[in-house]
Amino acid sequence: MSDSTSTTAVDLIVSADTVLTMEPGATHRANTSIAISGDRIVAVDATDALLESHPEAPVIGGAGTLALPGLINAHQHLTGDRLIRSMIPDDLEPGRSIFEWAVPAHAAHTGDDDELSATLSLIEAACNGVTFTVEAGTVAHPDRVLAGFDAVGVGGTLGSWGWDVAGEPWAGDTVDEVLERQREVQRLTERHDRVDGWVTLVGHDLMSDELVVAASELARDSNTGITFHLSPTDSDPASYLERTGKRPAVHLDDLGALGPHVLLGHGVHLGDDELDRLLATDTAIAYCPWAYLRLGQGVTRAGRHIEFIQRGGRVAIGCDAENAGDAIDVLGAAALAAGLAKDMAVDATIFGAHAALHHATLGAADALGMSDEIGSLSVGKRADIVLVDTTGPEWVPLSPDPVLQLIWASDGRSVRDVVSSGRVVVRDGEPTLVDRSSLAVEAAERHARLVRDARLGH
Ligand SMILES: [Zn+2]
Repeated sequence: MSDSTSTTAVDLIVSADTVLTMEPGATHRANTSIAISGDRIVAVDATDALLESHPEAPVIGGAGTLALPGLINAHQHLTGDRLIRSMIPDDLEPGRSIFEWAVPAHAAHTGDDDELSATLSLIEAACNGVTFTVEAGTVAHPDRVLAGFDAVGVGGTLGSWGWDVAGEPWAGDTVDEVLERQREVQRLTERHDRVDGWVTLVGHDLMSDELVVAASELARDSNTGITFHLSPTDSDPASYLERTGKRPAVHLDDLGALGPHVLLGHGVHLGDDELDRLLATDTAIAYCPWAYLRLGQGVTRAGRHIEFIQRGGRVAIGCDAENAGDAIDVLGAAALAAGLAKDMAVDATIFGAHAALHHATLGAADALGMSDEIGSLSVGKRADIVLVDTTGPEWVPLSPDPVLQLIWASDGRSVRDVVSSGRVVVRDGEPTLVDRSSLAVEAAERHARLVRDARLGH
């Protein structure tokens, strides 16, 4: 892939001992560098040649590094959980974590809380190599979350939360009110170069047929995506069967609400007919394995994500929330996905480290409908690049297969530098655009206020 960049101004060269482009069929490349102009990759070529033709360009990386595309987190709540991180007890009966913790925490969340939560979550994500995050659909103040994306310098998708079926403790809004809030976010992000406005609903059984059809149409007409929660537990199938006589994905397909623009959060409890409908409509799924283990949702008995992938389904890996899996570490979630796949099938030959990394990079981009923009180190794509430090203890000695070592021996701890849209947003493990220590002081204060005001744990 030799590209002449002699006439292009190169702003940054990312150099590494080994480069994983994650392009289809590609293996890792030695002595390779990536040239960046503005927010784009303009060349992936031999290091010597690129350095010679652009002697003036700053260089990061070098010896002892591995480069790969920025990771994608396909389902992440950026507000609500962050300021009460890892605080919801892990031995509660179903429902109590939502009604005694999550709902009051969200109800007491201010706009300032939303911005701080999103900033902290995106810092952790970036430090673990994530450059693109799909907000999962529970944001009350999208403008403040967008400010969080801007503060950290990473990309993603963002909507406003919405539901029109009354759920405790809030009444539902009208369909028009929900859709208007989504349009507001689309206007807010219209000219943003890293964050796309998506249509987001809470999902589950908190959406009428009228709302999900109209929301899906809005996403399709705006040429954007839609995401909502479906069937992380078997309570969604139970409520759909009672209301409609059909399982959720069958009912949604009969309404015409599924399609390639739809990214379902979870899809753990799916019947045969639902799997067929999702494949026939090319609907994608965000798979968050740590959340199902932390919450005891039955993925090891019911999960069919690997079968879905093997039959051609589009799947991206996600991390969910700071009280559902907790760590925002896509590499850790990818390793878990690979381990679960092998163990659930009692078959060591399937879904290894290479497949897991694919579903955190190019495969994830495909699930988001964004494989022409992100997910691999390819000329013309957004310059989202992770540099892994391969001098740490987990990298000694170096394996001839860096993907095996990255997934099974390491995780986000090895990430050293991160480039997002051509800008260095993490250097030596620290965010470059925000002051982490002052945010930590603010987080402790806001945490205390939120716990007090929302009467959490009482
Ligand atoms: Zn979620």
